[in-house]
Amino acid sequence: MNYIEAKARHQELTKLIEKYAYEYYVLDNPSVTDEEYDSKMSELESLEKEFPELITRNSPTQRIIGQVLTGFNKIRHKEQMLSLGDVFNLEELRIWDRKLCENLNVENVTYNAELKIDGLAMSLVYENGELLYCATRGDGLEGEDVTTNVLTIPSIPTHIDLKGRVEIRGEVYMPKKSLEELNKARKLAGEPLFANARNAAAGSIRNLDSCVAKSRKLDAWWYYLQDAEKEFGIKTHKEALDLIEKLGFKVNPNRKIVHNFKEICDYIEEFTKKRNDLPYDIDGIVLKVNDFSLYNEIGYTAKTPKWAIAYKFPAEEVITKLKDIIFTVGRTGKITPNAVLEPVRVSGSMVQRATLHNEDYIKEKDLMIGDYVILRKAGDIIPEVVGPVISRRDGMQIPFKMIEKCPDCGQNLTKVDAIHYCLNKNCPSRNMESLIHFASKDAMDIDGIGGRVVELFYGEKFLRTIPDIYELKKYRDNIIALDGWADKKIDAILKAIENSKNNSLERLLFGLGIKEVGSKTAKVLAKFYKNIDKLIVASKEELSMISDIGEICANSIYNYFRDENNLHMINTLKGYGINMTYLGESKVDENNYFYNKKVVLTGTLSRYGRKEATELLENLGAHVSSSVSKVTDIVIYGVEAGSKLDKAHKFGIKTMNEDEFISILEANNEESN
Ligand code: NAD
Repeated sequence: MNYIEAKARHQELTKLIEKYAYEYYVLDNPSVTDEEYDSKMSELESLEKEFPELITRNSPTQRIIGQVLTGFNKIRHKEQMLSLGDVFNLEELRIWDRKLCENLNVENVTYNAELKIDGLAMSLVYENGELLYCATRGDGLEGEDVTTNVLTIPSIPTHIDLKGRVEIRGEVYMPKKSLEELNKARKLAGEPLFANARNAAAGSIRNLDSCVAKSRKLDAWWYYLQDAEKEFGIKTHKEALDLIEKLGFKVNPNRKIVHNFKEICDYIEEFTKKRNDLPYDIDGIVLKVNDFSLYNEIGYTAKTPKWAIAYKFPAEEVITKLKDIIFTVGRTGKITPNAVLEPVRVSGSMVQRATLHNEDYIKEKDLMIGDYVILRKAGDIIPEVVGPVISRRDGMQIPFKMIEKCPDCGQNLTKVDAIHYCLNKNCPSRNMESLIHFASKDAMDIDGIGGRVVELFYGEKFLRTIPDIYELKKYRDNIIALDGWADKKIDAILKAIENSKNNSLERLLFGLGIKEVGSKTAKVLAKFYKNIDKLIVASKEELSMISDIGEICANSIYNYFRDENNLHMINTLKGYGINMTYLGESKVDENNYFYNKKVVLTGTLSRYGRKEATELLENLGAHVSSSVSKVTDIVIYGVEAGSKLDKAHKFGIKTMNEDEFISILEANNEESN
């Protein structure tokens, strides 16, 4: 993205975030989920990281965007009421903790771990033991005087046994039970329901009629004594909490001193499990450095203290908008409808597409374009649309209609069972997908021939069929003449094409795209027949006798080699010098680091794709599996690693990031050379 584009996106995001914040903080009626809001904020933060000149004092990343409602008196906070910095997974939390320790030059920092109550921040100010006022956070500098409403919460003391000016901060919340009763009554009265307890609490506290607040049965937890060290000589946050509890304030009992990352993870795990059983909502946990003497050294950003952090629970299910349903054509002609979603963070990563499989799937779920939908990550990896939020339909939704013609070549589609197919063998999408598949990592591994290049070369008529790949050198000059193409780029591709001629048979078999033949089956076949000529003449019976090959698969292989066009293509490839024999297993050096280790990969690796990394590891004799258990030896993680990394920390399994992984691979290579 260039600067002009970044600036435009920055403006767009700022406008959206301000609108959402207004709906959330002022109207107490959000139109998007917290995840959606947080993901827009993360996008804005990364834009500003890349283009720091976009940061202004008014950017949502730099200020607390609450507002004071008219109708309440304004109160200027003596000390600004800050928000909290946040992280969305254990890895981000680990990095935050490490950075803090490094800056302080210590091995570990002791924290107070607390629950992050999903309510609204409140400040209580006492003078000589008498309650003076209760104020909301507002924009951090100025809040609203909501004393009358807050005093409807019976647990709040109006007198305390401490002289001088005392400010206590905490969270006013609506217990789950109160929300349930409230929404039940509102439903009966035909009134709109509150989306969550946080908004219901905020709406109650900021209602001008205090009878309303009283009827809402709110409560509060208190978590901070302002100026504890300066005014009262207290040395730690824990002692401050103990003191306010002694003074009669409700302090959440689920707090704990944690001394290292393992204890932090245990605390998070404990409350991730207990979360649903608590009588109030929590949306994460908060860590606060215990020792006050470190606060000044650690410091503050404009809107958060750096000595505290909120770890937000991953949203396993989120709500987002289904903007459109588009169709893709696979290499077999299979038509797949795909959901185009308003981008949203789910289980730690951004999602904007999800497969909808087929027409029946969409109909069963009753999805309409324009619906708000529930989205989750199945098995922590694949985004899945669970269903529509019917209550959010506003009449603007468009019913889904399955297409009848191929979106690319226009041929009438044929339905087999639940699946629609384009049966036109010359359909450009199908041909392009076949080319992409042939060149892909698990198949012929021709680096540089991916989706975009295939689309470009196909459009220019340099590529149409698989054998054309081996004729591409004819077009070298034409390719260099294209925008953005130089000698180096095309020569690298041509070299990769040349190298692919020496691949072992299983890669070719997988690359041909024979129905039912995945990379594992291709390997079984290559090992069994050793060369393609023997496979071509194999009978159905013989094929189905090979272990791991079922009847359907055997039929499909048999039929593939009865098709004259396929045989002609194989002969052409032979003519280009492509190896068609099995080259055997490569010998593994048993002294290498990964030999015989049980390895799990998680997150996005930037240098290697998942499959490539798996292959590299398997070639070194490692066993790569998809789930972490107590027998796992190593978890290798990339960015946005999710629950697998969390689990590894929990079980005390060795973890390594991509850089460490690469350096071990490189060291291995040097030794074996
Ligand atoms: P926050 O809720 O992420 O965290 C800070 C707040 O946590 C504090 O101000 C305090 O009120 C609260 N808190 C709860 N328990 C605490 C504890 N034990 N110790 C200290 N603080 C504790 O920050 P925020 O600035 O209040 O709100 C920002 C968040 O609100 C966003 O990240 C988003 O999730 C949500 N939001 C949503 C929308 C929307 O449209 N859906 C709009 C704006 C904000």
